[in-house]
Amino acid sequence: MSKNNDHGLSTRMIHNGRNPANQLGAVNPPIHRASTIIIERAEDMYSDDNVRTYGIGGMQVHDELKTALCALEDAKHCMLTESGLLACTLPIFALVGAGDHVLIPDNTYAPTRRYCNRSLKRSGGSVTYYDPLIGDGIADLIQDNTRLIMIESPGSLTFELPDIRAIVAAAKARNVPTALDNCWGSGVYLRPLDLGVDISILATTKYAGGHSDTLSGAMLVNDDKIARKLQEASTDLGLCTSPEDASIVLRGLRTMTTRLKVHEAAGLEIAKWLQTRPEVTKVLHPALPDNPYHDLWKRDFTGSAGLFSFEIIPCSNATVIDFLNAFELFGLGFSYGGFESLVVNCDPQLTYRSSKETHFDGPLIRISVGLEDTADLKADLEKAFAVLNR
Ligand SMILES: *Cc1c(COP(=O)(O)O)cnc(C)c1O
Repeated sequence: MSKNNDHGLSTRMIHNGRNPANQLGAVNPPIHRASTIIIERAEDMYSDDNVRTYGIGGMQVHDELKTALCALEDAKHCMLTESGLLACTLPIFALVGAGDHVLIPDNTYAPTRRYCNRSLKRSGGSVTYYDPLIGDGIADLIQDNTRLIMIESPGSLTFELPDIRAIVAAAKARNVPTALDNCWGSGVYLRPLDLGVDISILATTKYAGGHSDTLSGAMLVNDDKIARKLQEASTDLGLCTSPEDASIVLRGLRTMTTRLKVHEAAGLEIAKWLQTRPEVTKVLHPALPDNPYHDLWKRDFTGSAGLFSFEIIPCSNATVIDFLNAFELFGLGFSYGGFESLVVNCDPQLTYRSSKETHFDGPLIRISVGLEDTADLKADLEKAFAVLNR
């Protein structure tokens, strides 16, 4: 779908998914707010092929966004969703029915787990949570009724990197499709389809949107049959991304690779600085050479996002609350990938996990390093560390 796949990624993200000749010369595609489409010929009113008959199928801005997202990961098909979460749950909805089984990593994004424990179980499906470090041992967990294996890399709180290639090989041996939650790698630093994964899941809410002002997601797929199943599920449910959100994500994509370079450099700088701090006992960032997943990261990723966690010295929950309240620049907020820095404490979310293997001696803090000056961010962290030294 992309104009020229020989171009570098930044060039593709700027030139794919827009066509000024069709846009009255404007650089960007227009936002059409549309439900009804006036169809030119009566013969086309009930035709399925390539005729836009209702706004729910998307307008020009949706088409251009899909083209750009396909160019991002060299994918054949792209389906848009109204949130990143929906891009995680729709593959389960579409592929795992009554009597079927899905494998989900134990460190999965918590709302994906909630979907499995509630909606999937209600519809008669079953789930097994697996240790993300299981590697080719996943073969032993694949059942005859396993219809999907979800992978997440890295875990978005505890930053484990699974062996994607080993899991994909075991899945392929049993003909089970795989889907990878690629929110951290954003299609820039990790290309799951190239590793044999069937569905690459993006929360475009994050680095693609880049400005904390959209909720949206996408699924990228090469396999025609899987793409059809996802599209049918989306059609059956009546999903449709607003044209404003599509436009915001397309706009964000233009600068995503450029912004990510700054997030990456700033994130690494702060991660290394945190390693020197007496208040910090562990930094969970896969691009640090002494990280236990560093070799896997080097094998599969081409860079790192600005999101990572660190463990602080053991302290009471009340102290953690004071620590968080001491930040002035880092906002207390979920999500990531926006221009502004964020911080959350992870521990209340870790209690959901079924395997208790990930053990931390002290509280786990996650930061999303934004685009501010790193000296100011370090000073802000120092202010919070002062609370721990009281
Ligand atoms: C944020 C996130 C999602 C969901 O994205 P939303 O657009 O916020 O719904 C899914 N998976 C991971 C790993 C995330 O970080």
